[in-house]
Amino acid sequence: MKIWIARPMTAAVTARAREAFAGVEIRETNAVMSEAEMLRALSEFDIVVPTLGDRFSAEIFAKAGTPRCKLLANFGVGYNHIDVEAARAAGVEVTNTPGAVTDATADIAMTLILMSARRASEGERMLRKGAWEGWHPTQMLGLHATGKRVGIAGMGRIGQAIARRCHFGFGMDVSYVARSPKDLDFPADREESLLAMAGQVDFLVVAVPGGPETRHLINAEVLGAMQPHAHLINIARGEVVEEAALINALQNRRIGGAGLDVYEFEPKVPQALIDLDNATLLPHLGTATEEVRSNMGHMALDNAAAYLAGEALPNRV
Ligand code: NAP
Repeated sequence: MKIWIARPMTAAVTARAREAFAGVEIRETNAVMSEAEMLRALSEFDIVVPTLGDRFSAEIFAKAGTPRCKLLANFGVGYNHIDVEAARAAGVEVTNTPGAVTDATADIAMTLILMSARRASEGERMLRKGAWEGWHPTQMLGLHATGKRVGIAGMGRIGQAIARRCHFGFGMDVSYVARSPKDLDFPADREESLLAMAGQVDFLVVAVPGGPETRHLINAEVLGAMQPHAHLINIARGEVVEEAALINALQNRRIGGAGLDVYEFEPKVPQALIDLDNATLLPHLGTATEEVRSNMGHMALDNAAAYLAGEALPNRV
């Protein structure tokens, strides 16, 4: 049985993989897999652990013919880089790592809400370049976050964890849009329309999965509906926000600011976005802690182990 892990992992996950799977190969680079590597993965390995950026598209499966690989145990909850339908048609199952990422990603959303509202990134840049002239009553006035209204687009695991933090931690009112109503243990208003919600909230937080269905869900119309002081926060996938429209809204001060962890053409970040003082830009840090990345790796390996034991896959997507 041969298993290919597509990136270096934490020490704990590496140790377990080497102990548990005799035929394990761990790729030594952090670059996304090339087409040739993906074809090799499908033809030479029984299980592959891919991750963000490894585009297992319908074309790749078409080129692979009948693959030896039977499981893509994705490292990460988001799997919009894998064409799941094409994988299944080729006899390849797909699993992900839900739950392990929820709290850490919600924490990064809160980081971005606070950084964007309180101009933390802009302030730090000013201080580091020696331009701080000292405290005064009207210095760098931002938006007070406590008690405001947050709108969550995508009230799943991460959306709910963000809403919970906003409600219990910051006394915010919560609105949300999702495909189905949620049974929550805190107050939250389900809105019928994203556009209507966008016009009512002080923070619009994007927490839907990526993929064709949600591509450019946040477009010029949604940004145009937002209040001029409101902030857009995206911790989901870059493609959910139409980046050119966002840049335009920020340049023209149509919204208060944006806090982003993900980018439409990641890892490319447009210079126009970098130049904006009302944009807070993080390098996809959502799950970036040692314990969370280890939990994600263990979850991917649990799926691999279940496949090898002939058991039901715990996290089939
Ligand atoms: P989840 O539990 O599946 O939640 C997704 C939510 O989005 C669900 O509430 C779903 O509605 C809703 N939704 C889906 N399509 C929608 C649409 N077209 N309009 C409105 N709502 C829609 O997923 P999760 O675990 O919270 O993760 C969400 C995403 O976050 C992942 O897919 C991943 O891309 C991203 N993520 C980013 C990071 C990072 O590092 N920044 C880390 C982890 C995850 P229903 O509940 O009605 O189905």
